[in-house]
Amino acid sequence: MSEKLINEIRETLASARSQFEYLSDLGLESQKTDRPDRCNEQQCVEANAASGETLDAIRADLGDCHRCDLAASRTELVYGVGNPNARLVLVGEAPGREEDVKGEPFVGEAGRLLDRILLAMGMQREDVYICNVLKCRPPNNRDPQPDEVATCEAFLIRQVAAIRPQVIVGLGRFAVHCLLKTKAPISRLRGEWQSYQGIPLMPTYHPAYLLRNPDGKRDVWEDMKEVMRRLQAEGDG
Ligand code: URA
Repeated sequence: MSEKLINEIRETLASARSQFEYLSDLGLESQKTDRPDRCNEQQCVEANAASGETLDAIRADLGDCHRCDLAASRTELVYGVGNPNARLVLVGEAPGREEDVKGEPFVGEAGRLLDRILLAMGMQREDVYICNVLKCRPPNNRDPQPDEVATCEAFLIRQVAAIRPQVIVGLGRFAVHCLLKTKAPISRLRGEWQSYQGIPLMPTYHPAYLLRNPDGKRDVWEDMKEVMRRLQAEGDG
């Protein structure tokens, strides 16, 4: 089987699973389970590890993506930036206006705050990998739609599987809900370790939220201290 076909099958499976889980969250299925089945995702991770997929190969597969309607209104597709061997991956929601123009995630005001948080952690953008659940800007920054997430999330799954970081930080309600398939309030989720593809994930507030609610910075800093502790414990390997 060709690599392209394998990627297409993987993408279709991931989209179908994501759509099912999303509908399940909304209570639109007959048998609702509290804990979504992660087996398919695990199989996806193992398949990626076995195929040794690179970020560049995934980007090439994404191409000039027209898999959902966001392609019509985007300026640039925003894939992700940073170190392909990063120990830390940060996942946000979707590109905003400035990201859409530059083709790079978190380059607006929220991004500048994120840079400052990273600096306080002794890191720079180049040390980590930053990406979003959605690769294209929703018009007028509206909330991402379930079908857009279902389509795009397959690529996020593959990006994370290709990097296999030691820690993931989920930035804000939307990204955390998507990654963990939960609807629990971010105020309850933040600060507690979760797991995504078997990788420790720390949910925290989105930098844009912090711009509006500066009091939340203290909580985010507590969360980032946990992240630093974890990275330190994991060591360089
Ligand atoms: N907000 C996000 O979630 N992602 C970006 O890239 C920019 C703003």
